Amino acid sequence: DSSLRPAYLDKLNAEQRLAVEHGDGQVAAPLLVIAGAGSGKTSTLAHRVAHLIVKGADPRRILLMTFSRRAASEMAKRVERIAGEVLGRDASVIADALSWAGTFHGIGARLLRDYALEIGLDPAFTIHDREDSADLMNLARHELGFSKTESRFPTKGTCLQIYSRAVNAQAPLGEVLGGVFPWCAGWAEQLKDLFAAYVEAKQAQNVLDYDDLLLYWAQMAAEPEIAAHLGGRFDHVLVDEYQDTNRLQASILTALKPDGAGLTVVGDDAQSIYSFRAAEVRNILDFPTQFARAAAIVTLERNYRSTETILAAANAVIGEAAERFTKNLWSERRSSEKPLLVTVRDEAEQASYACHAILAEREAGTALKSQAVLFRASHHSGPLEIELTRRNIPFVKFGGLKFLDAAHVKDMLAVLRFAENPRDRVAGFRVLQLMPGIGPSAAAQIVETMATSLDEAMGLARYRPPQRAAEDWPSFLSLYEGLRAGAKWPADLERIRLWYEPHLERMHEDATMRRADLLQLEQIASGYPSRERFLTELTLDPPDATSDEAGPPHRDEDYLILSTIHSAKGQEWKNVFVLNTVDGCIPIDLGVGSKEDIEEERRLLYVAMTRAKDRLHLVMPQRFFVHGQAARGDRHVYAARTRFIPASLLSAFEQTSWASVQAKDDPRRRPEVKVDLGARMRGMWK
Ligand code: ATP
Ligand code: MG
Repeated sequence: DSSLRPAYLDKLNAEQRLAVEHGDGQVAAPLLVIAGAGSGKTSTLAHRVAHLIVKGADPRRILLMTFSRRAASEMAKRVERIAGEVLGRDASVIADALSWAGTFHGIGARLLRDYALEIGLDPAFTIHDREDSADLMNLARHELGFSKTESRFPTKGTCLQIYSRAVNAQAPLGEVLGGVFPWCAGWAEQLKDLFAAYVEAKQAQNVLDYDDLLLYWAQMAAEPEIAAHLGGRFDHVLVDEYQDTNRLQASILTALKPDGAGLTVVGDDAQSIYSFRAAEVRNILDFPTQFARAAAIVTLERNYRSTETILAAANAVIGEAAERFTKNLWSERRSSEKPLLVTVRDEAEQASYACHAILAEREAGTALKSQAVLFRASHHSGPLEIELTRRNIPFVKFGGLKFLDAAHVKDMLAVLRFAENPRDRVAGFRVLQLMPGIGPSAAAQIVETMATSLDEAMGLARYRPPQRAAEDWPSFLSLYEGLRAGAKWPADLERIRLWYEPHLERMHEDATMRRADLLQLEQIASGYPSRERFLTELTLDPPDATSDEAGPPHRDEDYLILSTIHSAKGQEWKNVFVLNTVDGCIPIDLGVGSKEDIEEERRLLYVAMTRAKDRLHLVMPQRFFVHGQAARGDRHVYAARTRFIPASLLSAFEQTSWASVQAKDDPRRRPEVKVDLGARMRGMWK
């Protein structure tokens, strides 16, 4: 009886409905939705969750994992709207109950804290971001003497990358070195020792790095008793962007649901762009046959996002891929405009072109928020950012330098972390050195005293500071002891700021501006339920620089989006610009690049192009600046159109240049000569 059918089902196409109604609200066989960009995978997933809830599933027993925290909270809001339509309940109740929506890392952190005592972890563990992890790796490197005796020993960053890759791919070190870091293969033995020391240091200090959140989770989930408990906690487990999960993540899912019942994954193999973080496109391709129970597979073919012409160009680009499971999509959105291929002389012109076109769009009624500029690497937007600032065009940057990377914000958070976990040496080091008179060696000594005392805080209290620090020491001690005595949230941050402000003024000339950031941080903090949740979630998924929640440098209503292509995953805008669509950038200069690397670069361009709904501009500077690798240094290079758009595909695009756009716009432009007056004069006498 269709009158009893919830109305939201009518808005879906037949295949989407199949995915939403699979199992009709009950725990059912595993489900895979695999389809191209903009076909409604994410939207179908939201409807499926809502449908489960409408059919009686308990939202607290639904585990939903997405690519970013932002995506998770958007999804929760969407579910609330859809389910609220039918249930008529105060919708926010639903979103609140859907509390297990987040990223793999964020959910992992929560579960590990929850089961800490069962798995030999101290629940007060703190989490190191990549920078902290690199610092700790560096410490271990120094202690083993590798940085001294082996002058060409891999840098701390490279060491961390190798370690991380081996963990996430669940691959032996030798294999990782041979496959991805061949120039480091000679150091296999030293690296093994280094990683052993690194792991020991983390344990001694009760810190986990990003990779540990997955690694410990996977290991914990493989313990039969815990597995049963954990698996029994969730009836339904759903994952978006499954093509970008790695082996560890897949093993977590299998451990949670060994027979696959209640599992739903959605993704697009043509959008797999995270292999540098050990993502395995095989995860999604193998999913159907992975469980004793066969998985249901739904494919979607209609694209609702982009115009036909944009889709045709994107299909053409991905059509050249070596292998691909998802099929080409079709769209009913007609348009007479093809995507633009815009030639500009250099990055300065690229910035001028983008600003010009963005303002023209806004003039024509497209808000800045509906427009995005995408680029491969964060630093590629530099010249554009300068131009935008000059012209007073507000923007927000995703995937770039984060608000939390600012030194003063890191200082505040380090104090909080040090109070939360006195064994966190990286945090302790940073905090102690804020006081004049305490340098690296004194800080090391203090941290050491703390580590060897039975009670760290006692160790700290017993420390006798050097003369120069004597004045500041008591106020630090009382702050620290106060914070240790128990969290007062969010008031703790204010206490830290009041202690920190004199130091801030001493260290920085622009202290007033920085103070504004700290106030902003307190504002952000007030949105979190507890000190520990704040620390965990902020470390895992920091707010973006210049974002509205982060505040500075502006808080305009309407602003342009700047984003790396990687961070643009899953999103869409009316008008999209892709910068540096040239060889040497997309694909990046891949001197040693394998065939697979090139294929991943092609998919990257596909992801970028398929973000556009109405208009797409691929901009190609003929000359651009390369931040060089060691030997070759920074330099300008002359670039050609990306190899992913060979001449045979040009008919899918309209070609133009900044020069001709400018000429069209110039009110004083010279008329093209259409008359030959000389001939006319001569003709008059014939
Ligand atoms: P991506 O691969 O980029 O993540 P996706 O497959 O997840 O894309 P969505 O983001 O879910 O696609 O949907 C793309 C757009 O199509 C959204 O604006 C969504 O609202 C719209 N859409 C999806 N399904 C329908 C439908 N049945 N009717 C109308 N619009 C739809
Ligand atoms: Mg999506």
